[in-house]
Amino acid sequence: MRVLKFGGSSLADAERFLRVSDIVVNNQQQVQVALVLSAPAKVTNLLVALVAQTSKGEDASATLADIEGIFTRLITGLKTRYANFADEVLMQRLQQELGTIRSKMQGIQLLNQCPDSVQALILSRGEALSIACMEQLLLARGEKVTLINPVEMLLAEGSFLESHVDIDVSRARFAEKPVNDGHVYLMAGFTGGNAKGELVLLGRNGSDYSAAVLAACVNADCCEIWTDVDGVYSCDPRLVPDAVLLKRMSYKEAMELSYFGAKVLHPRTIAPIARFHIPCLIKNTFNPQGEGTLISADHGDDQYPVKGISDLSGISMINVSGPGMKGMVGMAGRMFTAVSRAGVSVVLITQASSEYSISFCIHTYDAEKALKVLNQEFELELQAKLLEEIEIRHDLAILSLVGDGMRTMKGIAARFFTSLAQASINIVAISQGSSERSISAVVGNKKVTEAIKACHQNLFGTQQFIDIILVGLGGVGGALLQQIRRQQAVLSKQGIGLRVVGLANSRKMVLSKDGLDLANWQAALEVATDRFNLQAIKQLVDDSHLINPVIVDCTSDETISGQYADFLAAGFHVVTPNKKANTSSIQYYRELRRTAQATRRKFLYETNVGAGLPVIENLQNLIKAGDRLQAFNGILSGSLSFIFGKLDEGSSFSEATLTAKGNGFTEPDPRDDLSGMDVARKLLILAREAGMPLELSDVVVEQALPPGFDASGSTDEFIKRLPEADAWFRERVAAAKAEGKVLRYVGSIENGQCKVAIKEVDENDPLFKVKDGENALAFFSTYYQPIPLVLRGYGAGTEVTAAGVFADLLRTLNWKQEV
Ligand code: ADP
Ligand code: ASP
Ligand code: MG
Repeated sequence: MRVLKFGGSSLADAERFLRVSDIVVNNQQQVQVALVLSAPAKVTNLLVALVAQTSKGEDASATLADIEGIFTRLITGLKTRYANFADEVLMQRLQQELGTIRSKMQGIQLLNQCPDSVQALILSRGEALSIACMEQLLLARGEKVTLINPVEMLLAEGSFLESHVDIDVSRARFAEKPVNDGHVYLMAGFTGGNAKGELVLLGRNGSDYSAAVLAACVNADCCEIWTDVDGVYSCDPRLVPDAVLLKRMSYKEAMELSYFGAKVLHPRTIAPIARFHIPCLIKNTFNPQGEGTLISADHGDDQYPVKGISDLSGISMINVSGPGMKGMVGMAGRMFTAVSRAGVSVVLITQASSEYSISFCIHTYDAEKALKVLNQEFELELQAKLLEEIEIRHDLAILSLVGDGMRTMKGIAARFFTSLAQASINIVAISQGSSERSISAVVGNKKVTEAIKACHQNLFGTQQFIDIILVGLGGVGGALLQQIRRQQAVLSKQGIGLRVVGLANSRKMVLSKDGLDLANWQAALEVATDRFNLQAIKQLVDDSHLINPVIVDCTSDETISGQYADFLAAGFHVVTPNKKANTSSIQYYRELRRTAQATRRKFLYETNVGAGLPVIENLQNLIKAGDRLQAFNGILSGSLSFIFGKLDEGSSFSEATLTAKGNGFTEPDPRDDLSGMDVARKLLILAREAGMPLELSDVVVEQALPPGFDASGSTDEFIKRLPEADAWFRERVAAAKAEGKVLRYVGSIENGQCKVAIKEVDENDPLFKVKDGENALAFFSTYYQPIPLVLRGYGAGTEVTAAGVFADLLRTLNWKQEV
């Protein structure tokens, strides 16, 4: 016999009932089927709400009407497919069950509370009606059906709402019954009967367990749990879309995973089938062809040492501590006996080896009960101050890694905790069973989704996402978007998902949690109404549980750069070619680095100096390796490199400047380049990287114009006046040439002093040949002397700058993929 169980999601409406009946009929042609059903989706929750409302004296008639609606639609829907379907019988049955519920509701209203026995009866009506509908559907399809009454057949022990089944007694009852060959057996899930023959429940989501128990009772060849996903995944596929489908897992793995919260299986399901070595298959009702996940004694191939990551929310932690704990035999025993007497189940325990404290986790709904019994149990110790006041912490979740392959494997815990740290998640407590089959960490409830995503990326090497919010859509920003668009598919193949979730210019901002369509972003921005604001972005990140959000600032705006500290504090990485933050006060400069370190986020600005040239990272690495910068000389402006190069070739200064402007090498107003301030900023950034605590005002700047040159007025007026500078430049060029030298606009650091000025350099100088827009940077250091470390190449232009920003973006991926 094969036991098939269908969950509420597989039974939500008439169409799904039909689908289930197809699967049953197909199976029944090969092997006898016993079918276990849940209530249709939502029904049990509605019944729970109905009891709660009625107990509080509230009107629950709308809730009851919702339940009636679900079944009425189901029955009428089935009738449209099978003319011989006994809809009237079912409508009568529905009214009869609703009548029972109504009369129980009156009782609850009178008592102002609902006894557990009554609650059990009410909550089980969903399953009862589910079975009634399926019975008629199978009869209409010509099947023979035998009903199994779980109250009569499954002996259950425990409370009315949460019982477990005595398998041996129940097996004996089944053994006495003759088998009706060729019949489909039908049993309601979720219910059993106690020794007095009263109806009891097997706990929420208990139909999986009902199926396992039935499989054990009838010696089934297989127990199949049919649900709405293709099987057991490495974690909840609703949280992580690229979760890995597991082909096989061991009973023990499945038990641990479900115990720690994987909703796909009720935690008690595995024990009965494992005891009789019955294989269990998890299948998708909506994809019956899929292989599913096979759970058996053998855990199959161990491609992944960790099979799954699960979370259990709604957890509270109790901490009992005090001097009286130390060495006092029996404290733990008393503690857990008291808690278990109160019917509270302990989910996880940790004890410090100092024996000073014991902490344990329970479900929050049990918290009050547990606290009360502990205070009673330890009343005397608390009075005598041998124990401190019992602490309780709410809003926690347990995150667990499960896998047989973790046993004896080194480094898993390290990767687990590193992932949590990288997602900025604080660990409240840790526990590893000595079976080494699971490791659990207790974390704050709010961050549990982020925690799962981070661990999954790290342990399964699946797609890692970078979620980009780009501010500033001009030259560099625009080029970056195009580069991202071109590379998205390529990077995706390498396991890196680039998503632009936000775009903003100076007027508008558009956000999309799934990533904006980069072929069409202008249109999306056009209709946007919001302006750039951190609050909205943060909301998006929180709501969508993004774990690697990056704000990319491609503006040259000081109001944006002034917010980087807030961005970093709010958990964003910051990537920017904008030099304003790094050249503002040294206090802000330091604050940015402190905040980035505290929140474990990255502040990356490789393109601040030399655009795409790898300047900052090289300098940082040298300094980290113990090198010290002694002196620096560099051509740090592409436009001035071009203009001064043209002077060597005989151009006049005004001609050279106009050509540069015409080619788009200068800023729209060439004074922004000629003032030397841009070079001064770059120089200051280098000096600060090298450890000099300077301010922008400490940089001595000689502009790239004759001394006293009138640079006032509009751009046009200034340009008209430019030829007045030609004679001065001509003379200086000639004087330099007479000594075999050329003029260069150089930023230099010497003896702790930063200076930007026109310099004459000879042919032995690394800057002698640097022109045509090229940048060159010569670092003289303890390790690099007398020959300096020279970096040379195009140091401006939107494409190379955007590529440099792109490289920084990829550097925000801070954990390595390891499979
Ligand atoms: P049913 O109604 O069939 O009983 P449930 O909603 O109880 O279905 O369980 C199926 C759901 O379990 C899936 O839709 C999925 O979101 C969730 N789930 C949680 N963890 C896992 C996991 N590791 N693998 C598969 N599904 C999981
Ligand atoms: N219908 C019950 C519940 O929702 C049992 C089940 O579906 O497994 O808890
Ligand atoms: Mg379920």
